[in-house]
Amino acid sequence: MNPRDFKELRRSAQDLTPQQRHILATDLQGTYPQNNPVLEQVDRAFSEHPRCPHCQHEQVAKWGRVQGLQRYRCRACHRQFTPLTNTPLSRLRKREKWAAYLEAMEDGLSVRKAAERVGVNPNTAFLWRHRFLASPAKEKPTLLRGIVESDETFIRRSRKGERRMDRLARKRGTKAPNTGMDPEHWVPVLVARDRGAVTTDSILPEVTSQTLKRSLVPVLDKDAVLCHDGLPSYFTLARETGISHRTVYAAHGKRVLKGVFHIQNVNAYHSRLKEWLERFHGVATKYLSSYLGWRRFLELKLPSVSFSRAILQAIVAPGRLHSFART
Ligand SMILES: [Zn+2]
Repeated sequence: MNPRDFKELRRSAQDLTPQQRHILATDLQGTYPQNNPVLEQVDRAFSEHPRCPHCQHEQVAKWGRVQGLQRYRCRACHRQFTPLTNTPLSRLRKREKWAAYLEAMEDGLSVRKAAERVGVNPNTAFLWRHRFLASPAKEKPTLLRGIVESDETFIRRSRKGERRMDRLARKRGTKAPNTGMDPEHWVPVLVARDRGAVTTDSILPEVTSQTLKRSLVPVLDKDAVLCHDGLPSYFTLARETGISHRTVYAAHGKRVLKGVFHIQNVNAYHSRLKEWLERFHGVATKYLSSYLGWRRFLELKLPSVSFSRAILQAIVAPGRLHSFART
């Protein structure tokens, strides 16, 4: 603004009613926390596909700024909102520390270490972890194409953090009595990955053709070829759905068919996931989907989308990350 206009603005401010004065003061305060990279990313991600959080209408108007964020007004229901309204982050404070917190997440720090690095209380760091991960936990790709590798892995069941346990807490470091399929001690996690590194996962109540079908069929492209390790459930699934599939019997020593059909990428993903999970010393099963989402986001290979941008995009514009990236 040129100096003359500014002088004029200041003079006309003297004519404001008390209510107008209050509104203006709030607006000015809202622009105060500048250069907050997280809020800038939030604004940018939301502005690409703005939508009213109250009525889902897409016709919205910019309506000043508040607390460092763009404010909008819905043209349909006339309510005001910011990109964070009705998101898991809406009421979180200390926004100036979010950038450091997201970096700590990218580095996979434990709650305690993240709290130390960012300078917040561990309870805050724990709350933030689950607030930041609530949307990414649900954000999964909608389409896997070409050769799709699918395999299950098993994660130790843990009731960590539950107040009421109907059995004695496990002593840390003791071995679960069985390995493999015992559902009392192990949670089956299905991971499917295509050769473009597009990856999805699901926590299965048990491994059956029906649970595999529910997880895989909605995301498989019609021309996809499913590679699996020969578990009978896959044959049932293929028979019932007509999906093309290839079996790679690791036990027979034939790990790669025709030079391309194998499940080595998905098995490598399992290894990275489990190795990365070790730092958390047993993940509470009720939070497992958050950790799986966290890992998926660390492994996202989207051009020019950083980890923090992807997380924020999932929060303020859910459902858009993958479709947006693949078009
Ligand atoms: Zn609305």
